[in-house]
Amino acid sequence: MTKRNMVVSDANSGFDMAISMAVSGSCVAAQRPPAYITISKKKLLQNLDINSSARINTWLDSMRASSPTHMKAPPLSDDQVSWNMRRPSALDMFEQITSASKGKQIVMFLDYDGTLSPIVDDPDRAFMSKAMRATVRELARYFPTAIVSGRCRDKVYSFVRLAELYYAGSHGMDIKGPSKGSRYKKGTKAVLFQPASEFLPMIDEVYKALSEVTKSTPGALVENNKFCVSVHFRCVDEKKWSELAKQVGSVLEGYPNLRLTQGRKVLEIRPTIKWDKGKALEFLLESLGYSNCTDVFPIYIGDDRTDEDAFKVLRERDQGFGILVSKTPKDTNASYSLQEPSEVMTFLRRLVDWKRMSLRRFLRMRRRLEEIKMSIPN
Ligand SMILES: [Mg+2]
Repeated sequence: MTKRNMVVSDANSGFDMAISMAVSGSCVAAQRPPAYITISKKKLLQNLDINSSARINTWLDSMRASSPTHMKAPPLSDDQVSWNMRRPSALDMFEQITSASKGKQIVMFLDYDGTLSPIVDDPDRAFMSKAMRATVRELARYFPTAIVSGRCRDKVYSFVRLAELYYAGSHGMDIKGPSKGSRYKKGTKAVLFQPASEFLPMIDEVYKALSEVTKSTPGALVENNKFCVSVHFRCVDEKKWSELAKQVGSVLEGYPNLRLTQGRKVLEIRPTIKWDKGKALEFLLESLGYSNCTDVFPIYIGDDRTDEDAFKVLRERDQGFGILVSKTPKDTNASYSLQEPSEVMTFLRRLVDWKRMSLRRFLRMRRRLEEIKMSIPN
């Protein structure tokens, strides 16, 4: 039996209640609580040396590798052709994907930025199109669907605005079930899971410190994602990237319980708990009752390094597929690729059409069988 910090929302009153509970037996309880990352003395010393130029360069190199404008591979280079063969388009492989899912419940996991919406200079204006919203709404009619984002959950909800979805914000550290209208919602109470809630005051403090220290770098934008902080490099002159990374490092020095990860033109600071998008995927599968099922088929679509944790979980479980959104070759644990959000929308639409057709076929067959049964004399 383990002790969990959870917030239970009453769907009728709309009130959230924070509770610490001992849980066992249920699908939610079966999930191990997040463990803290143990930092060895050697690692601690490395962390203290956080501002060394080697370390800053590693952060920047890693961030550049995730940022499309810095990809140097020309279209259809040997690398590209070989990558396309190893990670073929999910659109080209659509029949194989749907055929592998036969008899299984597809569960959809979608990253937001760069997957459902284009990457734009101002992260506050990363809106999804009406057509994409309509497609995701249709998708959720046929499959349990979750949005898994590095953004604060409220922010990503304000972009998507579909109450029937699951949302996992702050890289899965803030999970909430559908507030209405989902046939996959379990019971009348929505569970909200926040494994890093004790870090909230620290994250707030770091957000304020980073906002202050980065003021001198034109274009730098610090975003408070509730359980993590993002420092956006999108509008910063590349000559100033090193200076900005040093500023981030200078703040992080005072917080050994926080760690730094790199994404597309962004450095992110989050708690050192073993919780990521992969853990969020596992938690959501458990919440939906599919923890030990062989008849579940999760599909995770994402474009960023942080999505690799989820792709890896799918490979390890040998269930479903990861689909990486990228125009250029990248090291990935995903099985397939899509080039950009417009291709994601096409893929999701095909999935909806395929499911609708399959259901129609099934209903026609059932009607025909009933007619045959009725026609046979007793
Ligand atoms: Mg993304």
